[in-house]
Amino acid sequence: MANRKEEKCSFCGRPASEVSFLIRGGLPGSPSAICADCVEQAWEIINAQFGNDNFDKKKSKNAELGEIPTPRQIKEHLDQFVIGQDDAKKYLSVAVYNHYKRIQQDPENTGEVEIEKSNVIMVGPTGTGKTLLARSIAKLLKVPFTIVDATVFTEAGYVGEDVESILSRLLQEADFDVEKTEQGIVFIDEIDKIARKSDNPSITRDVSGEGVQQGMLKLLEGSIVNVPPKGGRKHPDQNYVHINTRNILFICGGAFDGIEKKIAQRMNTHTVGYNSVQNTRHIDPNNLLKYVEPMDLKSFGLIPEIIGRLPVLTYLNPLDKVALRNILTEPKNSIVKQYQRLFELDGKELSFEEEALDFIVEKAEEYKLGARGLRSIVEVIMTDAMFDAPSLSTKEFVITKDFARKQVEKNMC
Ligand code: ADP
Repeated sequence: MANRKEEKCSFCGRPASEVSFLIRGGLPGSPSAICADCVEQAWEIINAQFGNDNFDKKKSKNAELGEIPTPRQIKEHLDQFVIGQDDAKKYLSVAVYNHYKRIQQDPENTGEVEIEKSNVIMVGPTGTGKTLLARSIAKLLKVPFTIVDATVFTEAGYVGEDVESILSRLLQEADFDVEKTEQGIVFIDEIDKIARKSDNPSITRDVSGEGVQQGMLKLLEGSIVNVPPKGGRKHPDQNYVHINTRNILFICGGAFDGIEKKIAQRMNTHTVGYNSVQNTRHIDPNNLLKYVEPMDLKSFGLIPEIIGRLPVLTYLNPLDKVALRNILTEPKNSIVKQYQRLFELDGKELSFEEEALDFIVEKAEEYKLGARGLRSIVEVIMTDAMFDAPSLSTKEFVITKDFARKQVEKNMC
């Protein structure tokens, strides 16, 4: 057994008797120690590397979160990247703001009121900005962010990925920093695809639906989860990392195709009922999603426990012509701005005629690709120009409607 007098500083090697102070630490079975002089030297190195102020910020991640923007500021940030979707932006901004206020509460001093976690669920057609919203929030807050697709998960013991691997990805995004991981944001896409097939609990096993929802519960509610740092089952010998999901914000998204019917059914039964006079409000039949309520998610096949752990429910609007047109040019990193930047890097100037932009929007609508289609159409139009431009002496390039149409006719059927 090691004699205390023989203990040495693990850095400079001097025995305890030769130093003013020795801090003991290390893991059970492999103790180590550091002397006061080495601590002082380490501090100087850190200061030289980061500067005193910066290091103070790095030291406490909660201090970083101290600068949480207000809901209004969060929405203004989202406005720079996401067109429209005002309701979803408001709900998200408030949810995120409350979430981080909750994290900042002194755990010793929560009093009698414990603020519950405000995980979010967004219902909206594909390609309307659900992922973009979640990604933009994470960018603003500078917290680790990961997107996972709910369809790849299966109940434990079946082929596919275990739900725990969601956290493996977040851990990887956070460079294996557990503290950072525990304050991250996870976007779970296609949550509607793990709905059970009917509203009634099944007697038979439902590998892809209810079982996965049950597995997700423990992540959403906040518990300590054993996470394989490398993910998957390919590395069975890896040691688990314990991650507390209490402060991880989960944002779920899904298209919930057909949920409008459930909403309409519910609204009809309600308006015909006893209170029909109070309930007759103006209903927009073209956008029933805006009336979505938790019970519609239940009729769709999400289990009540999951719905209960996603208390913030909001919706996204389908994108009309005006929205699509704005998406092309308005956001900070809009598609048009990205191409203009590419040309600028070659010392060229690129512009699009208004009619050409309208044509792109028409095509995106025609192909029913939504905003996702805008990029592929612009890509098709721009390929020849991008191929030729660097070797031409011309400085200015204007994309006309005629040019756009010819390129689309040539390359898309
Ligand atoms: P979803 O998650 O709803 O299926 P995404 O957020 O992944 O859709 O959107 C796909 C692409 O379409 C994004 O990369 C973005 O460029 C564009 N997009 C979709 N909706 C919007 C919007 N409201 N504002 C700006 N861009 C959008």
